[in-house]
Amino acid sequence: MEKSKASVIDEIDAHRRQLSELSLKIHSNPELGFKEVRAAAWLTQYLEENGFSVERGICELPTAFRASYGQGKPAIAILAEYDALPKLGHACGHNLISTCAVGAGIASKRVVDQFGGSILVIGTPAEEIYGGKVIMAERGAFNNLDMAMMVHPETYDVATTHALACQTLEVEFFGKAAHAAASPEAGINALEAMLQSFAAINSLRQHIKSTARIHGIITDGGEAANIVPAHSAGIFIVRAEDDTYLNELKQRVINCFTGAATASGARLEYRWGDIRYAPLHNNLILAQLFKQNMESLGRQVELYPSSNAFGSTDMGNVSQLVPSIQPFVAIAPREVVIHSPQFAEAAASEAGSRGLLDAAKALAMTVVDLVTNPEIVIKVEEEFRKRND
Ligand SMILES: [Zn+2]
Ligand SMILES: [Zn+2]
Repeated sequence: MEKSKASVIDEIDAHRRQLSELSLKIHSNPELGFKEVRAAAWLTQYLEENGFSVERGICELPTAFRASYGQGKPAIAILAEYDALPKLGHACGHNLISTCAVGAGIASKRVVDQFGGSILVIGTPAEEIYGGKVIMAERGAFNNLDMAMMVHPETYDVATTHALACQTLEVEFFGKAAHAAASPEAGINALEAMLQSFAAINSLRQHIKSTARIHGIITDGGEAANIVPAHSAGIFIVRAEDDTYLNELKQRVINCFTGAATASGARLEYRWGDIRYAPLHNNLILAQLFKQNMESLGRQVELYPSSNAFGSTDMGNVSQLVPSIQPFVAIAPREVVIHSPQFAEAAASEAGSRGLLDAAKALAMTVVDLVTNPEIVIKVEEEFRKRND
């Protein structure tokens, strides 16, 4: 096993220059969700050149792909993201995620040849805005896999991720316009209904679990100060640690809006977003393997995140279907925040490149652990089944 691990490390080092170049090329050509045409083309071309069979446009998503090598069990997927953020470019470092996945996939070929199993690099577009993996999960992209892994760049090294279930809510109030000074009694104020809703949600927030989140913005607050606003609109996101609590909170949030509608006389319309992110279930056996492998490369890796920074990710939906991990690899100092211009810079830096190569090595070494130890694969499955009982 140690020999195999040394060989996957050598393989990634042999591809070091090409992987870094690929990452920088994607970084300097940022593409938004579902428009990652060039990134998907470059990644799949590189995989094909290195012996993978590639299916492009899977799940009826033109920039999604599945690259596979080898046959049979265990079927180990490494997921790639490659979408950028509006204006900020690769400020979430998805250029590193995708090249890391490609590097780990290519390095795993030799061990799959030797010990059996199959390695899949699955290209999952539009993580940032549309939750591409949620759609792909519904369309069966993650069926028949034994596990799925993906490494995300961050400012610290950790083997597990805390991500909340979440859903977006669009709200509108319809009132009645009137002259705000001459005949206010004739109007129904849709903006006041929205402001009352905010007040009710602020009150509610005191009495919800500390890990839950409710936040929103007003997207329409009226036309002019001398007209009673006949229309108001807002977008909210509700997040919770599990689906049951998310459902409960969703109802309580709607109650805030219906209460404001009753009080103001404005008519309420609302629509929950189609994409619902599931909470992330970390497979601890996979996380431990990844941690050990990353530490053997000289990095200090925590098993659990120390901070209370909760976001949501479409990887959560994958983790409901197959044993999954989404560790973080440090590419910038702690004070740099993700989704900032500084993080975009880090994603093209020397530290970014080092993070990409270390993460690819640790992923490929984890593949070695899995294909050489059928017992570990059984344990990974057992933990997953227990969690879902
Ligand atoms: Zn992001
Ligand atoms: Zn991201």
